[in-house]
Formats: sequence, C-alpha cells, structure tokens
Amino acid sequence: MNTSLYDLTLAELDAMMRAWNQPAFRARQVYRHIYSNYTDTPTAMTDLPLALRERLAAETSMGSLRLTRVQTADDGQTRKALFALPDGAVVETVLMIYPDRSTVCVSTQAGCAMGCVFCATAKLGLLRNLSSGEIVEQVLWASRELRKRPGAAGARLSNIVFMGMGEPFANYERWWSAVERLHDPQGFNLGARGMTVSTVGLAQGIRRLAAESLPINLAISLHAPDDALRSAMMPVNKRYPLAELMDATRFYMMETNRRVSFEYVLMQGQNDSPQQALALAQLLRGFGHGKNAGLPLNLCHVNLIPWNPVPGTPLGRSERQRVLAFQQVLHEQAIPCTVRVERGVEIAAACGQLAGSSTITLNPA
Ligand code: SF4
Repeated sequence: MNTSLYDLTLAELDAMMRAWNQPAFRARQVYRHIYSNYTDTPTAMTDLPLALRERLAAETSMGSLRLTRVQTADDGQTRKALFALPDGAVVETVLMIYPDRSTVCVSTQAGCAMGCVFCATAKLGLLRNLSSGEIVEQVLWASRELRKRPGAAGARLSNIVFMGMGEPFANYERWWSAVERLHDPQGFNLGARGMTVSTVGLAQGIRRLAAESLPINLAISLHAPDDALRSAMMPVNKRYPLAELMDATRFYMMETNRRVSFEYVLMQGQNDSPQQALALAQLLRGFGHGKNAGLPLNLCHVNLIPWNPVPGTPLGRSERQRVLAFQQVLHEQAIPCTVRVERGVEIAAACGQLAGSSTITLNPA
C-alpha cells in the first residue's frame, strides 16, 4: 500500500521530498496544504509542479478512511461520520459545533478490547489499532465539515477529544504521534490545552503521559467507587484496581500540577445512589497514606454523565432526581463536579454509543 501523507511528520515528508530532488521548501508547502488548507488530494495542490502532483498521486495516498455515512442531529450541529477502513473495519468520528467552540471526538482503535459493560464499542471487540494517519484524518474530515457551513470559510476546530472508539493508551505510540502532528505549529497547530485524552484507567499510560512535554488534558473513566462494582462494569479494573489507578493519578497530578477529570456514567440502580456518591468522594479524599493517600481536590473534577441507552444491555439511564442527589452529595463533600450536557443521543453519538452501526454508535474512555 502507498505511504499515506497523513502518516508523515514534517521531517519525514522533507526526507521524501529531498529524495525526490525537490527544493528545500517543498515539504512545508505540501504540509501547509494538508494541515492548513485541508486539501485531500494532490491534484488540488495547484501551486506544486504538475509532475510532482502526479508523482504524489501515483506513489502516496491521502488517507485510507472511506466516508460511508454522515448522520446529523441537534439541527446539524452534531455530525457523526462512519468510515470504512480498507480491511473492512469501521470507525466513527463525531463533530459537535457550539456557539463558541467546536469539538471533534476521535477514535483511536477500530473496536476495543476493554469490554466495559455499558459501552456499545465493547461489543465489537478489538479489530485493530488505527495508524497515526488514520487518527489525524478524522480531525481533518471534521475541519472540512466545519468549513463547509455557510459563512464559516475560516472556521477552525477548537477542541479534539480522544474519546471515540478504543482506548488511546492501548495504542499509545500511534496516538501520541498524531497528537504531536496535530499540535505542531507548522502542522495543524492546535494548542495542547485544546486536546483531551480519556482513558479507561491504564495506569502505565497515565504515568507515561505525565512525562510528555505537551500538556494535553486527561480524563479518567471511573464509573464506580469501589473495586467490586468497577471490576463488574469494567474488566480492566482487575488489572489496575482503584488503589493502583489512584496512585498513578496522584503521580500524574504531582508531576504536572494539572487537573484531571473523572468521568462517571450514571446508571439507574447500579452506581447512582447517595451512598455511592459518598464512597466516590472518599475514594478521591483517600483512606490514609502511601497508595491510599488522597488526591489534591483542587486538581479533581468529576463529570457526571447520565448514561445513554445501548441496545442489548439491561442497564437504564439514571432519573434526573438521582443525578441531582448524587451531585448534591459531591458538592457537600467539596468535590468539584458538573453534569455533562449530552449531544447527539438520537444518532447514537453520545458517550458509550459508538459502535459502527446506524442505530448505535462518544465513549467515556
Ligand atoms: S468505554 Fe472506552 S475503554 Fe470501555 S469498552 Fe468502550 S471504548 Fe473501550
């Protein structure tokens, strides 16, 4: 298969252009087409010599995602794309447009191996890791969509959240390579604070992120306040139980002094009682010293997410009164906390619903 231009760093593109006896400025010219103009074919790079455009078209590709469907909701302000990959796998990407910002939720794997019981993607199992180019390509699709709107010619995405299909830390190298390209001032040029990664709680990934130079935001899918319930909901908890996860989170906070969001999907009668809210507050406050020490509460933020129905599961969405009661307990315990406003529920583009079908398809992890 031809090299995808979306897989290349500027240095790699530069090496290719030099090997093709092109002048030194050529790589930047092509890079600008990809990441500033969102050009999706070499033939549209009309300021390049014809022979070079032809060679690029013959010897490289511009991505491997084939757009098979776009569904819209919220008056067209939420747009979910289904992409087919050459090997038959599918991935989904969701663009959400707000009055003051626009966010794309990006997948990092086709399917997912983590098996969370409330998640539509889990039902697919892991099909494969996406390449860095396939991750970047989803962002460029959203950028083009944004610019297509009337009067939005210069519009730019303001946020990228890695919360789509898959567990980003299970595909760490490729995912981070995409992050670097999307941040690169000569590339897509999005500030690190405009990016958020959500993890199911892979402790080694959290520790690794603490050492990275780009201060992107971290969200951790918690969803339960104790090991028994969390292991039943999220099998990964057997490998990284809560003490281990809290220890890695404390390490991350101490190393970076950055805030962490804890995602908590509320499911009726499962994890949404006032007692469980109190247990969650106690988990964050800690039980003692060492691995059981508390987290700095000024760096904690709990995001409560009323669960979205996934066909084929017996789980139900928490009633509003239970959501508010849960939030009230956290407030009383001085835990910063908000209830997330959902987007795209009717096109299955909300948390836990991405699964590559027309009926179910943003995951919290
Ligand atoms: S919630 Fe996230 S980590 Fe869990 S199965 Fe779904 S995609 Fe994977």
